[in-house]
Amino acid sequence: MLWKRKKVAVISPRKKVGVRGEDWVKCSACQANLYEKRFLENLWVCPRCQHHHRLTAWQRISITVDAGSFQEADAALRASDPLGFTAVKAYADKVAEAQEETGLTEAALAGRGTIGGFPAELVVTDSNFMMGSLGSVVGEKIVRAVERAVVSNTPLIIISASGGGARMYEGMFSLLQMAKTSAALGRLASAGVPYLSVLTDPTMAGVAASFAFLGDIMVAEPGALIGFTGPRVIEQTIRAKLPEGFQRSEFLFRKGALDQVLARREIKPFLVRALSLFHKD
Ligand SMILES: [Zn+2]
Repeated sequence: MLWKRKKVAVISPRKKVGVRGEDWVKCSACQANLYEKRFLENLWVCPRCQHHHRLTAWQRISITVDAGSFQEADAALRASDPLGFTAVKAYADKVAEAQEETGLTEAALAGRGTIGGFPAELVVTDSNFMMGSLGSVVGEKIVRAVERAVVSNTPLIIISASGGGARMYEGMFSLLQMAKTSAALGRLASAGVPYLSVLTDPTMAGVAASFAFLGDIMVAEPGALIGFTGPRVIEQTIRAKLPEGFQRSEFLFRKGALDQVLARREIKPFLVRALSLFHKD
């Protein structure tokens, strides 16, 4: 199974083994003990409180594209270290650690697959890999996915899960990915190829301020934290209490920043519907 990657437990709720050897997990939101099998069948959403637990990129792909249809692209792209950046740890070591922990080579997976039988170019970011931050490789994978989408006249879907924005370890090289991905998406729009953006918890900072918010259609999972600067920093800066639910999907939907808030189970049917409209002619 796609999600059975090593150390995926970094994002999953804590697993426990019951007296009869069955697997249980604890919901991190309501603390309910859940039968793991039911939890997985419910797409990592707590059946009690409906909390949408964060997914790895491979888990997301496994519940989005048709089984066996995903073909990864640009898997060989690796981060370079243009600044030779070292803080508490060297950037190169941070990357190696993230690779070891997630089984990924970078914070985004890109490729092509079918969804309900309709082809789509897909990019998924993974918040477990250096907070899903936008470094040169993530930017390059998005731009290449856009280029493939233009050439093959295939819709592009980006599913964002990025708590980090631009990846500071790469300095200006990471910041310019915001402009680079935005410009590429401009070319996609000029070519008349649709871009569907799915925002999940969390989608923040440079990711939110570039490709994630440029979708022709913008949908988000319930309760996802979506914004630029985090709420704590804003409160400390303006010294005021933020309104209830600030920067959550439902709040942004009410303010007109999103087209829809969809439960995880509804996202694939929604994508199939949207793709079917495009492929009609
Ligand atoms: Zn729960």
